[in-house]
Amino acid sequence: MATVGFIGLGNMGGPMAINLVKGGHTVKAFDLSADAIARIVEAGGQGADSAVSAATDVDFLVSMLPAGKHVDGLYVSGDAPLFDVVRKDTLIIDSSTIDAETAKRVAAAGAERGISFMDAPVSGGVGGAVAGTLAFMTGGTDEQFAKAKPVLECMGKNIFHAGAAGSGQIAKACNNMMLAILMSGTCEVLSMGIKNGMDPAVLSEIMKQSSGNNWALQVYNPVPGVMEGVPSSNNYQGGFQVDLMYKDLGLAMDLSQQSASSVPMGSAARSLFSLHKAKGNGGLDFSSLINLYQDS
Ligand code: NAD
Repeated sequence: MATVGFIGLGNMGGPMAINLVKGGHTVKAFDLSADAIARIVEAGGQGADSAVSAATDVDFLVSMLPAGKHVDGLYVSGDAPLFDVVRKDTLIIDSSTIDAETAKRVAAAGAERGISFMDAPVSGGVGGAVAGTLAFMTGGTDEQFAKAKPVLECMGKNIFHAGAAGSGQIAKACNNMMLAILMSGTCEVLSMGIKNGMDPAVLSEIMKQSSGNNWALQVYNPVPGVMEGVPSSNNYQGGFQVDLMYKDLGLAMDLSQQSASSVPMGSAARSLFSLHKAKGNGGLDFSSLINLYQDS
């Protein structure tokens, strides 16, 4: 079993760190919030009094932070950059969802100093983090992937090697842009059906068995009451917040800009989620987008 430093113990990082403890690893955990650290200590982990202390003398270092500026600050440009303190044989796994450019830049800055850094963003939400069933999309070398896999398997079910440094973030942005397009299209179509007198459950079933079938119809129907146990049947509470989808679509737009890729569908989805967020729905599950159509 390994010694793992863990930085960023929020909604996702907290349960992920607890799953590492359950997997038998020694976890040295740090967050800016003392309460978040206390929850890991309660679960059998060790509390660290600083990021430097969590990163010192560990086999793996996992970070789960809000955005690229936090990751860059922690490892490269902050007051006490962790690249100054980690052992050369420590593998750093950053699971934060950040822009691919920052992931590549931080990995390159580490490589210049002989430090191993890979990107490993996740899909599966808080439920997946608690259950240990996340999907990891990793970017790094074959060697890094092979070393990280057993540790990631304590926190996830599907562990993918997307390609070289930054590829995990590219895969995550592509997947979430696809999800946003599918959900927007599903909301639009169901809304049109409802306004034309269709029962949404009947229409959903017809499309599920026809060529309009997709993930939103299968497991995440946006219309309340059509499906049990999904956010739409719980006042759009829980699930994946509009704010997070909006953030991820911003990262997808950055990618399209940098590569001169045409993304008219992704851009339209981003505009829809932006409007929905501006109307005060940022804290609701993203399937609540259907209200934008139904209110119009
Ligand atoms: P969160 O805001 O709940 O947690 C972030 C944590 O990082 C907080 O506890 C904060 O105190 C800590 N933090 C920030 N800066 C720090 C620093 N310098 N040192 C130590 N701790 C620091 O966010 P979350 O929902 O856990 O999301 C984390 C990442 O996972 C984000 O990049 C998000 O986009 C991604 N993600 C979230 C979900 C989701 O459903 N919540 C799903 C997939 C991916």
